[in-house]
Amino acid sequence: MIVGVPKEVVAGERRVALSPDSVKALIKLGPEVVIESGAGVAAGFEDSAYEEAGGRLGSSSDAFSADLVLKVQAPEKSATGDEVDQLKEGAALISFLKPLDETDLFDRLSKRNISAFSMEFMPRITRAQSMDALSSQSTIAGYRAVLLASLALPRIFPMLVTAAGTLQPAKVLVVGVGVAGLQALGTAKRLGAITFGYDTRTVVREQVESLGARFVELDLDTGDSEDKGGYAKAQSEEFYAKQRELLGKHVSASDVVITTALVPGQPAPLLIEEEAVRNMKPGSVIVDLAAEKGGNVAVTRADEDIVVHGVNVLGHTNLPAEIPNHASQMYAKNLVTFLDHLLVEGELNLDFGDEITTGTLITHAGAVVNERLGGTMPTPAAPADDSAEGES
Ligand code: NAD
Repeated sequence: MIVGVPKEVVAGERRVALSPDSVKALIKLGPEVVIESGAGVAAGFEDSAYEEAGGRLGSSSDAFSADLVLKVQAPEKSATGDEVDQLKEGAALISFLKPLDETDLFDRLSKRNISAFSMEFMPRITRAQSMDALSSQSTIAGYRAVLLASLALPRIFPMLVTAAGTLQPAKVLVVGVGVAGLQALGTAKRLGAITFGYDTRTVVREQVESLGARFVELDLDTGDSEDKGGYAKAQSEEFYAKQRELLGKHVSASDVVITTALVPGQPAPLLIEEEAVRNMKPGSVIVDLAAEKGGNVAVTRADEDIVVHGVNVLGHTNLPAEIPNHASQMYAKNLVTFLDHLLVEGELNLDFGDEITTGTLITHAGAVVNERLGGTMPTPAAPADDSAEGES
């Protein structure tokens, strides 16, 4: 089997699906690997490093005509053509695919008979933790958000007592304490800030406190805030209105606010009104990690850094791509671990009784098969006689 890694074409995307180390690890599982020449350069991986790792360099069409294509961003449709059309008929694709946002991508993939796996749909179960690319990339995003905030803030983070006087520490509030939020709290604390975390999932309180941050308590009924996958559930508009009102005073008391609140498959909940931004001190910073989904802050503009009422509002939508080397290293590790699970003797072997396969597989054999998207998975093969005896 040949695995292909094309260069990412989305503007600003500096990550690459495989690092040289991961190429070496993948080859040990059996496949040959073709890398588009220059695919890793923006992430700090030279062509020669891939060759030393045992990979073969090729053109974009060499990488796209592989049996399995590994990508970071979903295939792009642009004026120069559709990346889906470059895939070999019947090939496999593993990538982020924005499965809850995409409209016609899965029809296009089905028409070409592609077996497409979405990294966003990796089940959040213990045995899939090392394949969980949402977590690995959110870790990078949370770290980067704090660094951006620290540079934009006209103050320093730590308390300093000096001959030139005492500097008060920055107050950093993180709203939405999932994977990115936890990393943001940890990073801000290491830089010396006083940290606060808030989330509707109250189970997060302990994690917030274990990072030396204070959990912000709002007088809201959050009883039914978490689904069985550990994600936040959408709340009523009445709940969000009350939340915005209560959160306002915590926002205005902060030097930095980092928002990460998301509900899968929904636009980002609006948590901070313009009025709360107006009440922040001039020079304060908001980093809205939910910018791509519409933002948690009323004034956020996706992909823009703006100043509103004297407050810096940063709306970067692809923070992992701003730390492309480590982000790619982690993503590549997620992919190789996933492939170690999917490959048998170097070939893709789809087990339709396996939660990791059925959770992530979106299109197969000409149809959308993922149950979360209304599809039907093929029936699992009956167990072979020798495995039917069980382990008891
Ligand atoms: P996410 O990116 O979907 O959301 C970020 C955070 O926003 C979440 O903590 C969510 O509760 C919060 N949020 C949503 N609406 C909010 C609101 N109105 N106000 C305040 N906060 C709000 O989440 P994520 O970072 O991908 O992870 C969510 C959780 O999934 C984790 O904390 C964890 O429990 C679970 N998880 C499990 C595994 C695993 O077991 N392998 C791996 C990663 C994450």
